[in-house]
Amino acid sequence: MLERLHGIKKEVDSKLVEIASMAELNELKVRILGRKGEITGLLRGLKDLTQEERAEFGRVANEVKEELELAINNKSEELKSRELLTRLEQETIDVTLPGLPLANGGKHPLTLVMEEIREIFMGMGFSVAEGPEIESDYYNFEALNIPKDHPARDMQDSFYITEEILLRTHTSPCQVRVMEKMAPELPVKIIVPGKVYRRDDDATHSPMFQQVEGLLVDRNISFGNLKGTLMTFARRIFGDDLRVRYRPSFFPFTEPSAEMDISCVMCKGAGCRVCSHTGWLEILGAGMVNPNVLRYGGYDPEEVTGFAFGMGIERIAMLKYGVNDLRLFFDNDRRFLQQF
Ligand SMILES: [Zn+2]
Repeated sequence: MLERLHGIKKEVDSKLVEIASMAELNELKVRILGRKGEITGLLRGLKDLTQEERAEFGRVANEVKEELELAINNKSEELKSRELLTRLEQETIDVTLPGLPLANGGKHPLTLVMEEIREIFMGMGFSVAEGPEIESDYYNFEALNIPKDHPARDMQDSFYITEEILLRTHTSPCQVRVMEKMAPELPVKIIVPGKVYRRDDDATHSPMFQQVEGLLVDRNISFGNLKGTLMTFARRIFGDDLRVRYRPSFFPFTEPSAEMDISCVMCKGAGCRVCSHTGWLEILGAGMVNPNVLRYGGYDPEEVTGFAFGMGIERIAMLKYGVNDLRLFFDNDRRFLQQF
């Protein structure tokens, strides 16, 4: 039996020199060392030996087995590195193959609408101004003709940092900030895009949303200028067949004040679910700048007049794209965002 064992060892050693592929090597490994292999077969004969012979043979058999395993593993490493080398030598890179396309990101629908609105007003000579989102009570309310005890504050409950510092509830504080800087220069002709904050949260209200504010102060500005500007804006963004109407309203910082409605973009004014069967959709608030606000800004209301307007970007985007839930804009769901 010992002879047979050494025979196997010799055979494997000579085979290993010839073998040139992993397939052949695996075949040899199974034939010699496998569960039904030759070594296992030999060990089965142990039962015919004496105790002493058995111990001796077992020791030698284990040694040989370990040697064989080591030799086969070495051969396996050698074959692997040789295969890699061959592949590296043979493979060439085809530089004419088309590259892998990168998935392109897109702009958020609110960004798209905001950019379009900016474009439209800049085309009419407005410049873009920005202001802080953390605002003082003075600019957010006081200078806009909303004193501490004014009931209009109830409609704009905000997040207070201190009693005098809050997250702005509208972009209107920028009206006074810009006028203060520019007075007595004319005209003041700005739009103010930005984020605003209120304590609301449902399908049509979000605690954070975006507004665009507009302000034009100059000599001889009339309500007619306001109507012309907003009509131009509405038709550029929703289409030329659009009709608008104004309803009297109240804002402390404008007098007179109005809400502008547009003919329903879904049903063209015939009446549908979106417009509550009225044919009209409310899109913004506007009015002639209150003389007090002009004074806070450093202008003389006897000499100049102005108009102002403000709208919610989400509202415009919902109407423009037919989105029925405001929260979709903030969910970051790619199935939604990929549609724009
Ligand atoms: Zn409608």
